[in-house]
Amino acid sequence: MTSDCLFCRIVAGEIPATVVHETDTTLAFRDIGPKAPVHVLVIPKAHHRDVATLAAADPALAGEVLAVAAAVARDEGLLEDGFRVIFNVGRDGGQEVFHVHAHVVGGHPLGPMVAR
Ligand code: 5GP
Ligand code: ZN
Repeated sequence: MTSDCLFCRIVAGEIPATVVHETDTTLAFRDIGPKAPVHVLVIPKAHHRDVATLAAADPALAGEVLAVAAAVARDEGLLEDGFRVIFNVGRDGGQEVFHVHAHVVGGHPLGPMVAR
């Protein structure tokens, strides 16, 4: 728990979130500013800065985050038409919250993978 971390505070229940999936080690909740009809964030409850540090420190937990992302996509009805899982990392990646999170987005065609 990092007291100045927004997503640690959501894990601690100090900031409300619309939770759609929870395990002992992960939490999935709706993004406050959805960029698509479905936009869910999947996080490990433990604080890791980004997907690179998570994968290095605890690859099993990184796998759990991916498994939950897939479960959320299934539960949200995205498996047939498809969806995207995005980890933004660092400045060039546009990361704004430095507690690793997978964005699960879908519900309509998502367009080009990245802006040029
Ligand atoms: P990043 O740019 O770090 O990959 O994405 C951060 C995401 O967190 C953004 O999509 C933003 O809308 C979302 N976000 C920021 N603050 C909150 C919050 O307080 N609650 C929720 N549910 N999402 C948030
Ligand atoms: Zn955190």
